[in-house]
Amino acid sequence: MFFKVQHTIKNRVKAAGVGLHTGKMVSIEITPAPVDSGIYFIRKDISSDCIIPAKSKYVVDGRFASTIGAGDARVSTVEHLMAAFWAAGVDNACVEIDGPEVPAMDGSAAPFMALLQQAETQAQEKNSRYLKIVEDFSVEDGDKSITIRPSDCLKVDFTIDFPHPLIATQHYSRKISRKIFSREIARARTFGFLKEVELLRKNGLALGGSLDNAVVIGDKAILNHDGLRFPDEFVRHKVLDLLGDLYLSGLPLMAEITAVKSGHALHHRLVDELLSRPYLWRIVEPASENRGISSWVRPVEDMASQFLPV
Ligand SMILES: [Zn+2]
Repeated sequence: MFFKVQHTIKNRVKAAGVGLHTGKMVSIEITPAPVDSGIYFIRKDISSDCIIPAKSKYVVDGRFASTIGAGDARVSTVEHLMAAFWAAGVDNACVEIDGPEVPAMDGSAAPFMALLQQAETQAQEKNSRYLKIVEDFSVEDGDKSITIRPSDCLKVDFTIDFPHPLIATQHYSRKISRKIFSREIARARTFGFLKEVELLRKNGLALGGSLDNAVVIGDKAILNHDGLRFPDEFVRHKVLDLLGDLYLSGLPLMAEITAVKSGHALHHRLVDELLSRPYLWRIVEPASENRGISSWVRPVEDMASQFLPV
């Protein structure tokens, strides 16, 4: 779960597809990046200088997907790719993109996981860093909430409750390792209600959405011919979104997270509020001896100030 050193990728890899909301064909090329650079996007259709770091202070919209931006440039729906970077243990990578939205692929993180597997991770010569939560903290919005507590690993407990008989209440709770993510979370697809598709399209959203890249829920049935990939695919996808959004903090998180009905906007609020309260966390890195996470992490005080949002 926890790597001692930072990782980038070894080989450049490419993917192309339609954006879920914009409906535009987009291609991405993921390339290696130096230590401490984090994940960042370059809108190469605008300029090779058009860099947008995948960090919470660059989040400009969290209503339907996670959109980052700098100046007038935007990249939306970054969350599934970000979850794949987190799960593959990639700290540093550049994503060159020639349009405003990451391709939806099949609506899950599995194609990005496969792409990163093809890219192969490359160890780098600097210790990795983790954001370790040291005090309890919660954010709420009506009946939605996220609570975060100290832990020596990453645990997620997610509850969703939709007023639709095909979803209703679903609950997923477990310690999330990279292996668990690949097996149980990565393949869970984004979903939407047939009733809402028309409204979304009127607002210029979901233009690229189809049964190839989303689970579409009708009044009485799932419209996808193959049905669901997991009986609780919906809550698993919400866990995927949460992990992708949390990686916009800039570092992998060590915490126990309890989320109730939360979505992108609340995930981003959590990260923003967390980063603006340094007493809630420590930046830790592995010490030389590796005897289990609690013995080998040590605080990195000097990095904390650099890490604060500006
Ligand atoms: Zn999603």
